[in-house]
Amino acid sequence: MEYGLKIFIFAPRFVAMTHLEEFRELISTPRRMAIVTHYKPDADALGSSLGLWAFLKKLGHAPVVITPSDYPAFLHWMPGHPEVIISDDKNEELISRKIQEAEVIFCLDFSALNRINHLGDLIRKASAKKVLIDHHLEPEHFADFEQWNIKSASTAGLVYELILDLGHRDAIDAAIADCLYAGLMTDTGGFRHNNTRQEEFIIAADLVARGANPTRVAKLIYDNNTLDRLRLTGYVLKDKLTVLPEFKTAYIVLSQDELRQFDSQSGDTEGFVNYGLSIEGIRLSVMIYERKDEIKLSFRSMGDFSVNDLARKHFNGGGHRNAAGGSSKTSLQETLNRFLSVLPEYQQQLLEDNNV
Ligand code: 5GP
Ligand code: MN
Repeated sequence: MEYGLKIFIFAPRFVAMTHLEEFRELISTPRRMAIVTHYKPDADALGSSLGLWAFLKKLGHAPVVITPSDYPAFLHWMPGHPEVIISDDKNEELISRKIQEAEVIFCLDFSALNRINHLGDLIRKASAKKVLIDHHLEPEHFADFEQWNIKSASTAGLVYELILDLGHRDAIDAAIADCLYAGLMTDTGGFRHNNTRQEEFIIAADLVARGANPTRVAKLIYDNNTLDRLRLTGYVLKDKLTVLPEFKTAYIVLSQDELRQFDSQSGDTEGFVNYGLSIEGIRLSVMIYERKDEIKLSFRSMGDFSVNDLARKHFNGGGHRNAAGGSSKTSLQETLNRFLSVLPEYQQQLLEDNNV
């Protein structure tokens, strides 16, 4: 236990929340709180939210976690999952009330209110103090308090830092540690992506000291495939992965029909985009897939090539330099055509960029 604390003290300084003392004062008495994260939450979004939720409950607050959509079944093990309020037709009144009643609203793992659809408008209008905890580029700066650091690999890590800055390391129990570890593990791609700093290992080590179980969390998240999902992976790799060597680019296009053939569930396509980048010489990978009411794009890149810029400029999206997303309201084919038509704009950069 002590070892974790020692390496934290000697570690490079983390970035503290803005107005930390005022925040400390704000949460010094029990408050009604809402924790909101982004559409289709991933392990970092949900893990950071539920980790923070469990922590705030321990301090005597009354928090609720609200998600703008459902999330994959491989996240249902997280403590607190049954109490999450998922935005769908049934819960809208309850959500609206919880947001209006809240004295403090935490926005986790997204940087602009337009990423959470109609919930964004509710939050904008709410009288609560707003707290942003996030690591995405180009934030909207709508919050009263910001724990924001683009260098941090995960929002879960920022929640950990906040808990330590508040002097409550002892409140991190195994359940909280597992949730935060899950976010840290997935947003670093298993401590492999180039966002993995010394700090990520320090936080991970300390979460293990507080009871996180890396083997169990990795098993629950990565080795929890349905047979259908694994077969879908095989189909994607064999028939759907296209490589454009002249652009050092790989892409995958998946229709609703194809997804249905494999009885695809929420989250089944997660990680597919990474296979493109695992090909020797590939710098840019994209997956384009059909959702019920829109086309979604998922981008990954290596080195200096910014998929945040590409997604922002052409696909109404954003994210991080090497991992970003976007969307399109045209057809699957038209979206692919648009992607192919903007590639020449980036050709030189893709061919020149050796900084990987
Ligand atoms: P993924 O490809 O895993 O869905 O997302 C990669 C990164 O881009 C994540 O950090 C995610 O939050 C962000 N992202 C995904 N879709 C969008 C989008 O439509 N808009 C913005 N601003 N960010 C996105
Ligand atoms: Mn994240």
